[in-house]
Amino acid sequence: MVSYKDLGLVNTRAMFAAAVKGGYAIPAFNFNTMEQMQAIVMAAVETKSPVIMQVSKGARNYANATILRYMAQGAVEYAKELGCAHPEIVLHLDHGDSFELCKDCIDMGFSSVMIDGSSLPYEENIALTKKVVEYAHKYDVTVEAELGVLAGVEDEVASEVSHYTKPEEVIDFATRTGCDSLAISIGTSHGAYKFKPEQCTRDPKTGKLVPPPLAFDVLHEIEKKLPGFPIVLHGSSSVPQDEVDTINAYGGKLPDAVGIPEEQLREASKSAVCKINIDSDSRLAMTAAIRKYLAENPSHFDPRQYLKPARENMKKMYIHKIVEVLGSDNKLLQK
Ligand SMILES: [Zn+2]
Repeated sequence: MVSYKDLGLVNTRAMFAAAVKGGYAIPAFNFNTMEQMQAIVMAAVETKSPVIMQVSKGARNYANATILRYMAQGAVEYAKELGCAHPEIVLHLDHGDSFELCKDCIDMGFSSVMIDGSSLPYEENIALTKKVVEYAHKYDVTVEAELGVLAGVEDEVASEVSHYTKPEEVIDFATRTGCDSLAISIGTSHGAYKFKPEQCTRDPKTGKLVPPPLAFDVLHEIEKKLPGFPIVLHGSSSVPQDEVDTINAYGGKLPDAVGIPEEQLREASKSAVCKINIDSDSRLAMTAAIRKYLAENPSHFDPRQYLKPARENMKKMYIHKIVEVLGSDNKLLQK
């Protein structure tokens, strides 16, 4: 058993309470590689922002769970080395799908876990979430649960259609499970193709797809039912069109990739939404930089040559999200 506290990590409790009160959101960036981890830490330190580094089941399969945990530990030390006296870094399991997986992560030093029982019948979701909460809270690990179903693909978790969270269920669910935060479905979606062209309109000037707006009425209903309770948005990449254009200009093929407009994420951040998950945008920033570099430097073959601009581009994107969209800059609780 490794406690996250010994690794210098923190859970989400204090940072979420402050974020809900302060009208901003904590960034939750997925990572599987050293370059992503470095870019996340550099961005968080430079902007003095708390940050959630999250690992999906797919990331654990790709990078190895033990390595990822040591990387998170390394991230804390790296943040200190970069001049942050008290880094506020959470190591979070994204989309845990079983009690065993959550327990495994808690036992190996994660400070927060998500148990995603959203595809289960309501009572089964409650029972599973409650079981994880009971175990996690023994070790002061925070738990994110999910109600409602998002469309899109995230690793092995895929759903064709979304079902908005039912506001009438949230009080019962939060009370009976004891979860610390709740991921809801209000129209965000996993992946770089969040909406089918027929769900969108098209900007006549650019020819780009304009996605349907998020269901803010559902969010506000939920906020009214659970005042001050931390709400989480998944599938909230904005799929920056300049990165998509760069990828397509240098041999890629991402037609009609579309995300959640940043304006809407900015608005959500001011509400009880206190954690916003961003994964695809990092993938796009990395791939765009690598494609461009290799196309312009066909004789280069040292991975450091193309991973360096990739890391720079991700860092720039993370800083942009923190400062311009989520508003979590200068929000460290301990200066
Ligand atoms: Zn998700």
